[in-house]
Amino acid sequence: MGVFKINIILNEEKYAVDLLNQVSLNKKVYNDLNLIARYLYHNQSLKDSEIYNELVNIMENKYANFIISKWQNSLLKISKDAKKKSLIVIDYIPITVNELDTINNIESKPIKRVAFTLLCLAKYKNIVNPNNNNWINYEFKDIFKASNVTATVKEQCNIINEMKHLELIKMNNLVNNLSLNICYIDKENSNTVLQINDFRNLGYEYLLYCGEKFIRCKRCNILVKKRGKTDKYCKECVLITEREKTNERVKKHRTLKCNAS
Ligand SMILES: [Zn+2]
Repeated sequence: MGVFKINIILNEEKYAVDLLNQVSLNKKVYNDLNLIARYLYHNQSLKDSEIYNELVNIMENKYANFIISKWQNSLLKISKDAKKKSLIVIDYIPITVNELDTINNIESKPIKRVAFTLLCLAKYKNIVNPNNNNWINYEFKDIFKASNVTATVKEQCNIINEMKHLELIKMNNLVNNLSLNICYIDKENSNTVLQINDFRNLGYEYLLYCGEKFIRCKRCNILVKKRGKTDKYCKECVLITEREKTNERVKKHRTLKCNAS
């Protein structure tokens, strides 16, 4: 079993449609093109060559300084591989009263956030693979990043050991295996209190539930700390929307000039 980076999008279909409607692509271009290609194959029934043409078209329109010779091989491969994996469509991960009770009863604040993150990850894995049995397999540093907890390698190990000691998790005994079994997933199906539909900042999702102040970016929907009263966008999207506005102004200016001459 390999260790995967945490890059989970619950509703890949909606994400792909949103990408197609955006004026410019995001930072993770390769991942996003992959998703668009899978959407075009599985939902729009396009053939390999049609997907390739569409990807070139998207890059020409939504990616600054696109050079086809640099991208051709990647785009051909993405188009060809699109058929291998259909799109995952999950509306949300339900979090129940019992699960939140367990987490709220943990004393340490950072451990609460890590516990919430592990819970979401394991419940996601259980949905994607019904034989998963509450296991997850991610690098600790990625789990802590998703938990919005800053910790040294030693602190990370201490937190994981503490959780093991509290019997919240079990570990595989194999050396160098990062598999964790999450033991506090609700077996009684108590009421759902929270619906999680974004996996980018799971630690913040827990803090939001606890009443701390956050905003969801108007462009990409990521949950970020609220800094000012008029915050609308995350840091990345502030830059993107400013660039889009400038481009728009330049375009308008050019059209005016053309019409005048
Ligand atoms: Zn954003």
